[in-house]
Amino acid sequence: MKFYVLTLFPDMIRDGFQTSITGRAMEKGLLSLETVNIRDFSVNNRGRVDDYPYGGGAGMVMQAEPVYRAWQSVVSGMEKKPRTLYMSPQGRVFDQQMAQEFSQEEELILLCGHYEGMDERLIEEIVDEEVSIGDYVLTGGELPALVVMDAVSRLVGGVLHNEESAEYDSFHDGLLEYPQYSRPEEWHGKVVPSILLSGYHANVDRWRREQSLLRTMERRPDLMEHAQLTKEDKKFVATVQNSTK
Ligand code: SAM
Repeated sequence: MKFYVLTLFPDMIRDGFQTSITGRAMEKGLLSLETVNIRDFSVNNRGRVDDYPYGGGAGMVMQAEPVYRAWQSVVSGMEKKPRTLYMSPQGRVFDQQMAQEFSQEEELILLCGHYEGMDERLIEEIVDEEVSIGDYVLTGGELPALVVMDAVSRLVGGVLHNEESAEYDSFHDGLLEYPQYSRPEEWHGKVVPSILLSGYHANVDRWRREQSLLRTMERRPDLMEHAQLTKEDKKFVATVQNSTK
């Protein structure tokens, strides 16, 4: 999978993505990254890419032409233009389902804004989708782009050592993940649940599933509405609900 990132801060993207699991996946050739510095496409001789907003108001706006040229430098000559995502607090809020959807693409272009954002005409011209990472405003689109790239990358085959870990992660089937424990068996007087030491895999699986259900009901009841539940899960949920009435 290849990511193209249009940004004013390419180092921030490269440094973030070259670290840890995504960096290792790039070395293996499973992922690749090309950053494009929007400033290289400035249309004035001082390297500026922002200007005052028409109509007045606070802050500066990123001009359409430099960003358009940066985008053209990626897509010109391509038969099929990759999906272009603009990181924006006004976009669809990113979640695991969107990560799944984007991981099906072979290439993605991520556009990072700065200042007060982009000239609207540029968004109309090149952007397929605006993506937000949550209801708060950041100074730039670089952290949101890294968030999206990271979540998508771990769903690309071979990126995680153990494919199972993505399968059981929170949100994979609409539920939060069960609690995890590692050595030692006792720490600060707290012992690991004995079922995990029992060696009965079927019991461990059932316990984990029930813990996932309990956690989700407790912490994120909103997720229960769309969670994929088996007959057995539904029975368990009903028992818990009846016992708390
Ligand atoms: N004036 C804009 C507005 O109110 O919608 C906010 C601009 S913000 C200060 C600068 C840039 O940061 C945006 O163009 C966008 O690329 C990025 N950004 C900020 N918050 C974001 C979020 N929650 N999700 C995605 N991108 C965000």
